[in-house]
Amino acid sequence: MTSSYDFSGYLDARGTNWFDEDPLLRRWVARSELSAEVRSLLDRFGRDAASTWIERSDLAERREHLPRVREPDPYNRHPPTEVELPEATLRTLAEVHGSGIWRADFDERARYAVVYLLNEHGEMGVTCSVACTDGLARVLRMAADPADARAAAILREIEAATPGRWVHGAQFVTEIQGGSDAATNALEARPDGDGARLYGQKWFCSNLTADYWLVTARPTGAPAGHRGIALYCVPRRRDGAPNGYRIRRLKDKLGTRALPTAEIEFEGAWGFPVGPLDAGLRTMVAIVLTTSRVHNVVAAAASLRRALREAEAYAAFRTAFGRRLADVPLLAASLERLRTEADLAAAGAFACVEDWTAALAPDATREQKTWARILVSLAKAVATRRTSPRIYEAMMLVGGNGIEERFSVLPRLYRDAAIMETWEGPYTLLLHQALCDLDRLGVRGHEGDFLRFGLRDQAGDALVSELQAVLEERDETARALAFGELAPRLFFAYEAWARSTFA
Ligand SMILES: Cc1cc2nc3c(=O)[nH]c(=O)nc-3n(C[C@H](O)[C@H](O)[C@H](O)COP(=O)(O)OP(=O)(O)OC[C@H]3O[C@@H](n4cnc5c(N)ncnc54)[C@H](O)[C@@H]3O)c2cc1C
Repeated sequence: MTSSYDFSGYLDARGTNWFDEDPLLRRWVARSELSAEVRSLLDRFGRDAASTWIERSDLAERREHLPRVREPDPYNRHPPTEVELPEATLRTLAEVHGSGIWRADFDERARYAVVYLLNEHGEMGVTCSVACTDGLARVLRMAADPADARAAAILREIEAATPGRWVHGAQFVTEIQGGSDAATNALEARPDGDGARLYGQKWFCSNLTADYWLVTARPTGAPAGHRGIALYCVPRRRDGAPNGYRIRRLKDKLGTRALPTAEIEFEGAWGFPVGPLDAGLRTMVAIVLTTSRVHNVVAAAASLRRALREAEAYAAFRTAFGRRLADVPLLAASLERLRTEADLAAAGAFACVEDWTAALAPDATREQKTWARILVSLAKAVATRRTSPRIYEAMMLVGGNGIEERFSVLPRLYRDAAIMETWEGPYTLLLHQALCDLDRLGVRGHEGDFLRFGLRDQAGDALVSELQAVLEERDETARALAFGELAPRLFFAYEAWARSTFA
């Protein structure tokens, strides 16, 4: 006989408006003076997050809906260039990109509140596109020649998007010989009129259905190293046809499966340069990748919130041995830990957004810029690394249903978390980067001032002396290992300060 047991209690306990029902998120956004239009957008997306986005993200991850390369022309006239996405993903992309969040005057807190709500669903074929489009808009605003009509036209398209007419971006740096050491990029840019034609291969190209790709490439004859790398904006289609590229294959990935990631062969794709030709990699890292890293920090916090949401709802509903799971001491302790960490992660991510956007202002001080530069590397590394074990804990708390892909989002969040930690700079690379920046930006000898500025009241003497010892250490291995010990504690101190601002 079929059982009458049903899970409505658990489903209902997950809530109906994830903006309204998230006190920390609501209080953070309340620090801004929002127009009625933006408030109603957050209310709408809060309801979507608790309903349609759950359904769409589940659907997009199903094996039969995963992105696939459209079959090439049977007569061998056209190489494979197109990827098919499910209708569910396209609808969310249209609604988000067309919502007004890319307007220059859109409130920064509200923008990242939308990013947070989206990321409660994992990647879902949407959040990479959102991060890349943010980076594209910022780089066009901050680095493109203001007199360049091509850049201005794309920026207008992004800012004025509607659900019926929207565009998005992608960013390709990584090549087969390495992603971290991008100064080895070999994709060739052959000058062509007021732009260049690209030849060669990129090894990991996510969100390639985007309208505009930011691509790092080496102009013909440019010197070796990072100064020889320029940044190009490449429209995916030109004059109604694919712009000189071919998809070699789609990657078969552990996570972010609803997002297409391809190996692409460039066969003369035309693009125009963004910023000076000898500063392409610097521009890409400082603006575009840094924007993506901030998205990852917000994503890590959002994944933890969702993991908690699922675990709490399930533990409040499910009974075993005559009592709710939430009342079993070891499970209650596990939930409490998740609750604490989800709040710390959210407060830390929101503060990171604030410190980073403050440092982008034209009147930002040197202190603000130095802190933001190092903070984003630390935050991306530490926040994303913590996410996997916490999602795992939530999954175990739910039990068998927690690891069943159709029942629970947790396996997907767990798989996506591994990617979140890898892309835009893996853990050790970012720690290495932060350490180089501490040297390069002159923090040595001013460790106390630096930490008191960034960690506020959490910059205790012990942390200051430890940072001094790291920066004074001359042995490369000892230095790297000591910073590896210290870095997470610096970020956790920052989170503790950020959390205290919500007390
Ligand atoms: C699903 C997915 C999608 C992706 N999408 C894109 C995309 O759209 N565009 C794009 O450009 N790239 C993309 N990437 C690539 C990603 O950014 C790279 O994987 C990442 O930058 C690391 O490069 P790598 O894999 O070549 O590793 P490597 O550079 O070979 O590094 C291997 C390991 O060595 C460590 N390491 C390297 N150098 C140092 C150092 N000096 N100090 C300490 N540690 C170091 C790294 O931290 C890492 O752990 C994607 C990757 C994945 C998995």
